[in-house]
Amino acid sequence: MDRAGKSTSQNPCLNIGIIGAGLAGLAAATGLARAGHNIEIFEKSEFSSEVGAAINVCPNAVWEGNLINPATPQTQVIDATTGKITVRVPYTDLKERFGHPYYLYHRVDLHNGLRELTLETRQGHPQTQLRLSSEVVDIDCENGILTLKDGSQITKDLLVVADGVHSRFVNLINGKSADAEATGMCSYRWLIPKSKLLENPESKEFIGMREARRRTLSTPTETSGHRYWKSANQGQGGAQGIEDGAALGIIFANVTSKDDIPRLLGLFQEVRHDRAAAIQCLSNVGYDEAGTVGKLLEQYIQGPVPKTFDEIHQFNYGHDVMLEAEAAVIKSGLRRESY
Ligand SMILES: Cc1cc2nc3c(=O)[nH]c(=O)nc-3n(C[C@H](O)[C@H](O)[C@H](O)COP(=O)(O)OP(=O)(O)OC[C@H]3O[C@@H](n4cnc5c(N)ncnc54)[C@H](O)[C@@H]3O)c2cc1C
Repeated sequence: MDRAGKSTSQNPCLNIGIIGAGLAGLAAATGLARAGHNIEIFEKSEFSSEVGAAINVCPNAVWEGNLINPATPQTQVIDATTGKITVRVPYTDLKERFGHPYYLYHRVDLHNGLRELTLETRQGHPQTQLRLSSEVVDIDCENGILTLKDGSQITKDLLVVADGVHSRFVNLINGKSADAEATGMCSYRWLIPKSKLLENPESKEFIGMREARRRTLSTPTETSGHRYWKSANQGQGGAQGIEDGAALGIIFANVTSKDDIPRLLGLFQEVRHDRAAAIQCLSNVGYDEAGTVGKLLEQYIQGPVPKTFDEIHQFNYGHDVMLEAEAAVIKSGLRRESY
């Protein structure tokens, strides 16, 4: 895949099964399909009643042509107890600083847009198949076999597991428990104008109730008549899935035979592990609490660890996963020149 999302691969096509059609699964499908592979996505739901509020798509998760009809964001952070604005971030210079803009979507729009992209027909390429109501109940990682709820078994050259935070399969792959743990934090979301929230005595109270932990809520200003709210951490969960998809697309454009798969997966791990682990550490705290995870971050970041709001922005948004993946591919000797 090149930077505009066009397929560049003349190499053999793998049959790849993806479990889960959330943002991560769809991003993986887009990247791998554009690398020329044959993709079948297995999704347990019917996608008949999708819900969700706003989602930020930060510059590190934007590559040309991967997003559709974005809204222009402006963000401000307000103290959840006092309602006072503590940080204003107009986000007007992000394209100049990081090479890509910062987008805001309604989550359902983003999901639908990615789904359209994933399933679009590309000349000369097999069309990706999305199988809804297709719950995967078991996988055999070594042999690439997945078992569906109806008992049928399907064999693929490669399985991508993107079944979300409560993954059924991650422990099986790791050989140890990696269950999601409760953080003690909750995130409340509304899609109603703030003026209405403040008019209502009950919801007004709600804004001030979180005394145990006076984290802030952040609100992009009105977009299409809505006011969107989000929790105050990094807004990078979906972005990491999108980065993963982009990296898979770059790395798996270099398949010469099925025997390459373990080596390419090793390269993917090399490109993604420390980045994703560092973002995970930062996501457990707010922008103003990065100092509390400084020691942890040192394990994953070479050089100075980000501490301030601006340094964290630079770390999060300034990462170009395509460049990283291309550099790793070239360093590995799999391909000599960059796109
Ligand atoms: C309140 C909130 C705000 C957030 N804000 C942001 C933000 O601003 N920016 C950002 O980048 N991220 C944000 N995130 C994080 C982001 O939403 C998630 O990281 C992302 O949606 C996870 O996508 P996923 O594809 O990994 O998982 P999911 O969206 O959970 O998708 C997994 C899919 O797999 C399917 N599935 C599960 N098990 C099976 C099975 N056995 N067989 C078949 N299918 C299966 C599920 O039905 C589902 O469709 C936010 C999260 C929350 C909770």
